[in-house]
Amino acid sequence: MNCPVCQGQLRSGKTSYTISRNGYHLIIDDVPALICEQCHEPLFTEDAVRLVQQMIRGLDARRQELSLIPVAI
Ligand SMILES: [Zn+2]
Repeated sequence: MNCPVCQGQLRSGKTSYTISRNGYHLIIDDVPALICEQCHEPLFTEDAVRLVQQMIRGLDARRQELSLIPVAI
């Protein structure tokens, strides 16, 4: 398999997964991925993407709860 962006060689490694959502920004370090040697574009495995999506669903719910906490003096 080659890089879908530049057709370069892929090698297995780890990289950061960055998520910008409405209300929070998240960087997960050391996520396993195939990384292009030429353009450094990461290709995450289905398993990694599924797990990250599960984490985001939990975070979205918590983030909403957090915004509903009343603040009063
Ligand atoms: Zn590439």
